[in-house]
Amino acid sequence: MTDITFHGGVQDIGGNKFLVNDRGTKIFMDFGMSFSQEGQFFSQFLGPRTSNSLIDMFELGILPKIKGLYRRDYARHMEFGGDEETEIDAVLLTHAHVDHCAYIPYLREDIPIYCSEESKLIMQNFDETSSDQYLTLKERFQVYTNTKGEISRATGDKVTIPRKIKVFESGKAFSIDSINVNPLPVDHSIPGVHAFILHTSEGSVANTADLRFHGRRANDTEQFVETCNESDLDLLLCEGTRIDKTHSITEYDVETKVAEIIKNTKNLVICGYPIRDLDRLLSFYNAAKNTGRYLVVDLKQAYLLKLFDESSVLRGKYPGPRDPNLKIYIPRGSWGLLDKDLTKFSKRQLIMDYAGWQQEFLDYPNVVDYRDVLKNQKDFVFYCSDFKLQELIDVKPKENSSYIRSLTEPFDMEMELKEELIKNWFMHFGVLSKEQDWHQIHVSGHGDGTQIKKVIDGSNAKKLIPIHTQHEEYHRKWHGNVQSIEQHGLVKL
Ligand SMILES: [Zn+2]
Repeated sequence: MTDITFHGGVQDIGGNKFLVNDRGTKIFMDFGMSFSQEGQFFSQFLGPRTSNSLIDMFELGILPKIKGLYRRDYARHMEFGGDEETEIDAVLLTHAHVDHCAYIPYLREDIPIYCSEESKLIMQNFDETSSDQYLTLKERFQVYTNTKGEISRATGDKVTIPRKIKVFESGKAFSIDSINVNPLPVDHSIPGVHAFILHTSEGSVANTADLRFHGRRANDTEQFVETCNESDLDLLLCEGTRIDKTHSITEYDVETKVAEIIKNTKNLVICGYPIRDLDRLLSFYNAAKNTGRYLVVDLKQAYLLKLFDESSVLRGKYPGPRDPNLKIYIPRGSWGLLDKDLTKFSKRQLIMDYAGWQQEFLDYPNVVDYRDVLKNQKDFVFYCSDFKLQELIDVKPKENSSYIRSLTEPFDMEMELKEELIKNWFMHFGVLSKEQDWHQIHVSGHGDGTQIKKVIDGSNAKKLIPIHTQHEEYHRKWHGNVQSIEQHGLVKL
């Protein structure tokens, strides 16, 4: 018997958590966060309590209540088992966007995570540049007996446990007990995205992950659809994020339009784009290079480029951190010693101003700080994230500077409020005037209706289940056998 339980990612955009059970072999495809579910109960100032997080999340229906699934330090502390064997054999990760991967840090450390090299490095980047625990779990709620014989709290996450990360190769099938898995690359807005075709004892199932045909890797998506067609699919789980849209520009159009704006800007070009979308970074990198400017990236992007550059599989796919057309921006550290008198402090103090992962970049030949950007505005395309707008105070964009916003347009009130705030910053510095909007140049990671129809038609699956969408009516229009699934619903193969 084979079935799939949908613990998220149906009638919702994101939060994918599909549990496949094939004669007792149990694997999750993705273990992501649903923005809509979390947003229903939580906000920036209201979250699950650390000491009770699992129970809080179960109560609100955000995490599935399954024994043996969650990290043992949490499970024991929250009295939800922790000493049992796990029944879950693996998690297959399509890609490292949070709506597909954000709850991995809650998982038990001995459940293997199968992912692409790119996804592994992006999760490593999350862990090492913030306090996430994707690849390495740091045990919490531990006690020890001190020298006086008293029971004390262990602090500072002393015990670290690496997760079992299994990196798969594109197009190279592997088996998890009775299930054969074929990971196939598809085009999307973060590196290393893979769709899966599973061959189970009762039939074959494909999961599209998130995909499109208008990025730099459209051929991958074509090839995936082709392989689906040859696989005699019993079931296709097909995304439909933008299925109600009819038009998409391409990633190459983004590059061309960005270059056009750079050409017409006398002083500084400032830009914002999704920090881990390296294909978008490439669009800005190419546009800057072709117009005689340097792209200035922040330390987090430099660190990600470094990880990719150090990987023998990925080297050369994206510019390395020492690329001559790239500059790395060093912001003020925690004491802001960057421009202070170092006879009063010291070089050592300056280094201490930065986190461990940031320090090595201080010695790179291609670093710049605000003084360089301030002085030579016409030489740079300056990446400035929504969370680092204070840099504008130092960089001081001169008259005839531009801002290119290459991020998704707001789709709810909260985001609209944020856009107002961001506009205020650029208006304050005269980059935008009240009448003039910023340059919004973006293309989504998801295919429009025409593209999704091509996936549905081309795959030729016997049955279709819409995932990652709020518009199932389009799937129904384009396929004769569509099944709707409720949250936590089960489908037999
Ligand atoms: Zn995605």
